[in-house]
Amino acid sequence: MAAPINKVLVIGGGFSGMAAAIQLRKQGVAVDLVEIDPGWRSYGAGISMGGASMRALRQLGVIDAFLAEGDGSDGVEIFIPTGQKVAELPTPRIAGPDVPGNGAIMRPVLARILADATRAAGTNVRLGCTFSSIEQDDTGVDVAFTDGSQGRYDLVIGADGLYSKVRETIFPDAPKPAYTGQGVWRAVLPRLPEVNGTMMWLGPKIKPGLNPVSKDEMYLFVTEDRVANDFIDPAEFLPRLKALLAPFPAPLLQQVREQLDNDSQIIFRPLESLLMPSPWYRRRVVLIGDTVHATTPHMASGACIGLEDAIVLAEEVANAGSVDQALDRYLARRWERCRMVVQNSGRLGEIEIAGGDKEEHARIMRETLMALAQPI
Ligand SMILES: Cc1cc2nc3c(=O)[nH]c(=O)nc-3n(C[C@H](O)[C@H](O)[C@H](O)COP(=O)(O)OP(=O)(O)OC[C@H]3O[C@@H](n4cnc5c(N)ncnc54)[C@H](O)[C@@H]3O)c2cc1C
Repeated sequence: MAAPINKVLVIGGGFSGMAAAIQLRKQGVAVDLVEIDPGWRSYGAGISMGGASMRALRQLGVIDAFLAEGDGSDGVEIFIPTGQKVAELPTPRIAGPDVPGNGAIMRPVLARILADATRAAGTNVRLGCTFSSIEQDDTGVDVAFTDGSQGRYDLVIGADGLYSKVRETIFPDAPKPAYTGQGVWRAVLPRLPEVNGTMMWLGPKIKPGLNPVSKDEMYLFVTEDRVANDFIDPAEFLPRLKALLAPFPAPLLQQVREQLDNDSQIIFRPLESLLMPSPWYRRRVVLIGDTVHATTPHMASGACIGLEDAIVLAEEVANAGSVDQALDRYLARRWERCRMVVQNSGRLGEIEIAGGDKEEHARIMRETLMALAQPI
């Protein structure tokens, strides 16, 4: 019997879409990928990858490139604002004994590594292109593209992120992303010799952290409560970020504060979240990644669960006897894990905003890390 899914369209070339293309190509499925950005650029500073993310990168076949160009380490050091270390959280080596339990990399570097792997896998990539219509029947999906071309597919994967047009088209009643009351500041800086892994300082309201992203660079992240999601003029980024670090007497953080200047690639991003109720597919169009579960970065696991979606979906495409069966099984394996990450991360933000129970905060972090370590 012919396999039910031989030709797939991936809409969106972010981490989730690229991962889906790589895994499907390994099974000999023909994959077209359309990405709306003609430059296929990735914005932002560093991205942290926990043990489960490292496991996903290993499965995708890019862990060596990640470790060569990014940074891997074990454990997370926790400090109080004056600089005394109060805890060291273990980060088990989930990807295997030879891969550190934690890591980080510059976003554009990871995007390039995955884009190279996507092309090397034989994906037909088209940049500066998206869909203009999607029509499905019992045996396939007809897609018209903005470059005037058309295609017919066995399956269409929507991986076009938080503001997904695929979601809007196929699920017009889906919830919209919601602002969570916090924003994150990030900056890229020359790496200091004391920074050998993830470090976090627990202020009463603000929680700065540092993470090496390569041999020479590290990134600073600071979560700030902001009741209103109002615009901040980029000209104010540098003084505002410096002001947020001022109340922390820890000598290392003050050194970092001194390092900040106009070359520090400072970014501010209001945090939004979305958890789309089940099902995440309609007939032959299925959604993955931030299109259905955009989490706040409190567990640094948004990219992780998007990569995992892609890996699981490709496995189910390979194993299932029908499209319905593949998508049912995909959803059954993904729903609870993704719900847990989005809702637990959201709860951590709520506790931080309310100045709430630190015990509950620590327990949720621990439980989420343990759950993420489970096989997918
Ligand atoms: C401040 C912040 C910090 C974060 N930190 C971390 C972290 O440390 N660790 C972690 O694991 N996660 C982190 N995340 C989450 C992570 O960035 C996302 O979960 C991840 O990037 C989602 O990938 P994606 O491919 O699903 O979506 P996206 O990255 O949004 O990719 C979507 C792609 O689709 C393209 N596209 C959009 N519209 C269309 C269209 N109509 N047609 C075709 N293409 C289209 C876009 O150009 C883009 O390339 C963070 C998120 C935020 C906001």
